[in-house]
Amino acid sequence: MACDNQTAGVAIIGYGTAGVNAAIALRNAGYDGTVRVFSDTGILPYSPILTSYYAGGEKAYDECFPWSADELGELQLEVLENCPVTHLDPQAHVVSTPRGDFPYEKCVIATGATPTTRGFPEVEGDPDYAPIVLRSMDDAERLKAAIEAPSCKRFLVSGASMVALKTLEACLNHGLECTLVGVNPHVLDFNALPEAAERFEKGLREKGVELRLGQKIEAVKRVDGGLQVTFSNGESDTFDEISVAHGMRCNLDFLDEGALEIDRALVVDEFMRTSDPDVYAAGDVAQATELISGEKRIVGIWKNAALQGACAGAAIAAELAGVQPDPAQALAGSIPSNTIAVNGTLFISAGTMELAPERFVEVREGDGMTVVYIFEATGEDARRLVGFNLVSDVDEPGGRAYDVGAMLTLRIERGCREKALAHRV
Ligand SMILES: Cc1cc2nc3c(=O)[nH]c(=O)nc-3n(C[C@H](O)[C@H](O)[C@H](O)COP(=O)(O)OP(=O)(O)OC[C@H]3O[C@@H](n4cnc5c(N)ncnc54)[C@H](O)[C@@H]3O)c2cc1C
Repeated sequence: MACDNQTAGVAIIGYGTAGVNAAIALRNAGYDGTVRVFSDTGILPYSPILTSYYAGGEKAYDECFPWSADELGELQLEVLENCPVTHLDPQAHVVSTPRGDFPYEKCVIATGATPTTRGFPEVEGDPDYAPIVLRSMDDAERLKAAIEAPSCKRFLVSGASMVALKTLEACLNHGLECTLVGVNPHVLDFNALPEAAERFEKGLREKGVELRLGQKIEAVKRVDGGLQVTFSNGESDTFDEISVAHGMRCNLDFLDEGALEIDRALVVDEFMRTSDPDVYAAGDVAQATELISGEKRIVGIWKNAALQGACAGAAIAAELAGVQPDPAQALAGSIPSNTIAVNGTLFISAGTMELAPERFVEVREGDGMTVVYIFEATGEDARRLVGFNLVSDVDEPGGRAYDVGAMLTLRIERGCREKALAHRV
């Protein structure tokens, strides 16, 4: 579709799952005006989840794109490729890009997040060296090229989050000798309690992974044999490549300070409205209600981004049709959930891992699984499940462990709904 910067309509900044789902919801709700999507890439929307599988050789490049060009074409969007938004002026209702300024009536910010390499030192003898990170398809290409290079034999992953472990899995798939270094005493950072993390670590060690937990990279030097790394305990080792997964930073550089309410991300209400009534936010860039704490938090998972995008799109369509958004379509909130399998060791979690005084943990072993339950006391002899970790040595899609994980996740969600209803009565 041709670019017409006179028509206002809806601006969607970011063409990932939150942006696409906002567009789908707008059209499903009958909005037939201009939907202008600003994308900083020249490729179709991809799934960051699949980047490690592509790098590890488990998925083909084409399989990383959840929507076909035909499906997206049916949405009649005006997509501006390779057109990053450089400024958003909520007062003037204008989006600025290197290709000019574009007016909007309503705007959805769905720009996701970027990996940070915070804490990684400058490499002595190679100051331009940037460690590998993982989010975009370009990142995946770099990781794939690195681990497939015949010269790459020893790989260091810094960080112990889900992204770090997915990177590790891609490397293990290529038979690389892998070391993982993480500042915390256990892997899986904030997603696992020690009881579950230890079992997962055992699985990793059995696959030959060297774990350097409670340590960090202190210094890196380019040497003949690769990259010589000194760890915080004083030991050193040499690697061919290093990847860093030290967390994500929201992509919000195009906003002036104070333009919208930002805490860790854009603070939104149950319809994904930011502090400006005409600007919405969805996905990893939004801070909406997390159901267990009741606080506004980033819940950076795919399903949440999709639901939030859809919620924003439906609410905007209603407002542009002159009616109030349907309360039935409001998003009460979400809970964090994660699933990861590294070479046959499966980990599933959902809910909170925060051990408040009224919470207690129960560990149950059986069926080849360790399940760590986090309960909250709700009265005399009453309790509700608020979180769980499951680790299994059998990673069989559709198998018992996945069933248990799905069932426990639903139980937590149901408990949150019941609690919310009880508070309303
Ligand atoms: C390696 C990895 C593994 C993951 N695994 C899982 C998993 O197993 N399960 C799960 O649920 N979640 C997982 N996630 C998280 C999940 O991918 C994200 O929560 C989800 O993709 C967020 O969607 P989004 O639309 O908010 O952001 P994105 O998918 O990142 O889309 C945002 C888009 O906006 C673009 N953009 C940024 N700035 C601008 C700008 N200024 N102008 C225009 N465009 C811009 C970005 O380039 C990007 O294309 C994983 C993430 C990573 C990185």
